[in-house]
Parts: sequence; structure tokens; C-alpha cells
Amino acid sequence: MVQLKVIFLGTSSSVPTRKRGLTSIAIKRGPEVILFDAGECAQRAMIYAGLGLNRPMKIFITHLHGDHCVGLLGLLQSMSMMQRDKPLSIYGPKGIIGFVKYNIKALAFDLTFDLQIKNVKEGLVVEEAEYSVYACRAEHSCPTYAYVLEEKLRPGVFNPDAARRLGIPEGRLWSILQRGESIIYQGRVIASDQVTGPKRRGRKIGYSGDTRPSKQLINFFRGCDLLIFDSTYADRHSDKAEENLHSTAREAAFIAKEAGVKTLVLTHFSARYDDISELVKEASEVHSNVIAAEDLMEIEVKYPE
Ligand SMILES: [Zn+2]
Ligand SMILES: [Zn+2]
Repeated sequence: MVQLKVIFLGTSSSVPTRKRGLTSIAIKRGPEVILFDAGECAQRAMIYAGLGLNRPMKIFITHLHGDHCVGLLGLLQSMSMMQRDKPLSIYGPKGIIGFVKYNIKALAFDLTFDLQIKNVKEGLVVEEAEYSVYACRAEHSCPTYAYVLEEKLRPGVFNPDAARRLGIPEGRLWSILQRGESIIYQGRVIASDQVTGPKRRGRKIGYSGDTRPSKQLINFFRGCDLLIFDSTYADRHSDKAEENLHSTAREAAFIAKEAGVKTLVLTHFSARYDDISELVKEASEVHSNVIAAEDLMEIEVKYPE
């Protein structure tokens, strides 16, 4: 069991407001932080949220618009000032490497940790033992990637009777089998699946970045437990959504519905709306489980049944 929490560090589009900072979303999975986008002051919000700046961490940038990536500079600088010592990886569209390197050079600060910066292509971006991150092209005014974090299958439910029948004593060996690993007991190899049920699905979380709705994104986000989607505008500004290559809250809900998403989180609200209840109402007419993001809001995502 690994706890997974999504923490919204910034939920405004383009410019910050009194209540909302610029886009940044942290997924805290066990001890690790996986950050999607880094709007200005992301590091301050991370400190507020109790995440600190020295956890194992990866950063995925959707696109090189200022409200999604300018926060990287302050974040890297604060990390260095606070003597971060853990390596850090940044992934983003073409241009990300030059953007980060140029700014570190221009600001003339030294990093206290190893930094890797990589260009993203569609498909698998990162594979870890327990999860993978995938990218898909979004439809925006510059090259933009949407991301999915998908956990790998986890071991099935442990069956104590099956273990007893095989004569395996309760205790340490049981926990190894329960974790999905094999053991050797009295010269016999016992595989985990001899004493556990069918493997269980992990959690799947999607994040659109800035985008128009598209068929590719419906496929990409298929079956997400939680989807965080561009909801910049209300219906009455749908012309602006088309013009600026964003989505309305209703369009976000349509994507979530078509993709069979359990919970939809609206975010990246235009600063023109002080009250976003209108956006929530419009999205809720299409999808039955809609949440509007607020700065520092936390959502724990449980394992699917
Ligand atoms: Zn944006
Ligand atoms: Zn943008």
C-alpha cells in the first residue's frame, strides 16, 4: 500500500489572482514527489504544502508557456540555497533543455545536486518499478504534452489457507509472497501467484496541460481514476476557448465522460472568474463526479476496487 495524494499548488491560468497561483500540480506518491508544471512560486506552494524541497522528485513540463514553466527557475534556485542533495530530473517538450540551462547560466548560480533534463516524445517517458509516466501530444498554440501516471499491476489478495496448505509458516515468508515475490522453502520454489489471487490494477492519473479537447486525449486518458483537465473557460466564453486553444469546463467533462474517468478535477481557471461555480455547474451537467481545484487542495487517490 503506497499512499498517493494530488496536491494543487497553483490553479490559475496566465496570471495569478489573490486566491490562485500559477499552474503546478504535485503528486506525492510514498516519499516521492512527481510535479506537473511549475508556475511561478511553485517552490513556495511546495513549502506551504509541507513537501519541502529535498524529496526524490521528477518534474514534467507540459509546454513552454510562462505560466507553466517560469517557476522552474525559482524552484531550482531555492533548492540549491537549501542545499538539496538528491538528483532531479526534468522532462518537457523540445526547448526545455536550452531554457533551463540558459537561465542557470544567466543567473549564475551553482546547483547543489545532479540535474538531468530530457526532451519528451509521445509514449513511455519514464518507467519505474511501480509506475510509468506516458506522454501524448495535446492541441495548443505551441508543442504541448499531456501526461498520465499509471501504476503497474500489484499483487493479488493473499490467501492464507493456500499458504498453509503448502506448509509455509506464517511470518516473514508470508510477507515476501504477499509483496509478489517468490521464495525458496525447504528446497522448493514457491511463486507468489500460488498463494495470491489475480493481480490488481493500480491507480491511473491524467493531466492535460493546456489543450483543446481531442479524440487522442480521450484514448490517452481512458479509465483514469482522476483526470485533471484544462477548464479555462465557461460556456459563455467558448469562442475564446477555441481562439486560444483551451477548453471549457463542459468540454473537460465531455472528455472525462467519454474516457470513463472516475473523478474529474477542473483547473487552470481564467482570472476573469472570481467565482467558478458556473464552470462546475456546466461540467456537472455532463459528468457526475466533478471537483474544482483550489490552491493547496489535496485529494487522496485510493486503489481501485
Ligand atoms: Zn496555461
Ligand atoms: Zn499555454
